[in-house]
Amino acid sequence: MPLYFFDTHAHIQRSRSGRCPDVANLLLRARETGVRAVLAPAVDRADWDTLAKMTPPRGLRLYVAWGLHPYFVCEITPRESTTIVEELYERVFSASSDLRAKLRAVGECGLDFARARTPDTRAHQVRVFRAQVELSRTTGLPMSIHCVKAQGPMLEVLRERPTPPSVMHAFSGSAQTACRLVEAGHYISFAANVCVENARKVVEAARAVPDDRLLLETDSPDQTPPGRRPAANEPAFIIDVARRLAELRGVDVAEIATLTRDNGRRVFGIDEPFALHEFDGEDPERSP
Ligand SMILES: [Zn+2]
Repeated sequence: MPLYFFDTHAHIQRSRSGRCPDVANLLLRARETGVRAVLAPAVDRADWDTLAKMTPPRGLRLYVAWGLHPYFVCEITPRESTTIVEELYERVFSASSDLRAKLRAVGECGLDFARARTPDTRAHQVRVFRAQVELSRTTGLPMSIHCVKAQGPMLEVLRERPTPPSVMHAFSGSAQTACRLVEAGHYISFAANVCVENARKVVEAARAVPDDRLLLETDSPDQTPPGRRPAANEPAFIIDVARRLAELRGVDVAEIATLTRDNGRRVFGIDEPFALHEFDGEDPERSP
């Protein structure tokens, strides 16, 4: 039976060293393997226009998130981030109806204290994240959240300023943290880090998340599943994450595909149907 996926976090605009050289074929390969929707989050300001202009092949829905990744925040000064955050607000509030239909989240945003090591750089990340939390609260858009080595401060911000149900992407925390986020209304998204042997903590989290809060993603071009290395990751590899989650949760992979697709539609407020049985198999449009 064919499987149909929603990759809820894939940086299709990027390669591991810069811009993705061939997004069109990357998306056709995704469609061939059953991916029917992708949400592509921005990393920096330049990504906003790149993502807004992208058009997917027929049969594949493309949604985008606009925001400022904590890595990018580490590369700019507090003065620069103030200007860019103002621009983000202005552009989200003045978005055309076409763009609004595509723009389904604020992100990628969050905290990464492995990258920001000094009190000043951490405070800068927290300030820019809080600004994006306020954008989520005023627009009603969910956030696509990155959190590494900052679970405590992250939970504190989310407790203090509750947002619409949002997505903790490429979750790498404990089952206990996952449950606290679920209790606060959020969704937990897993990438290929669950496929890594001996990843005990994240495996426990992948078993603990309730069915109605589970999401699937590739986080491409990063986090290539172990069996596909050294290739760059891409949405077509989402099947590896789905199979592993099915194995860990003791269910059929078709069930994981269906429930993560439905959960993705719910959290990102998507009413339009996905094309399912069309476009199965080899794709004649794909160039070699
Ligand atoms: Zn990401």
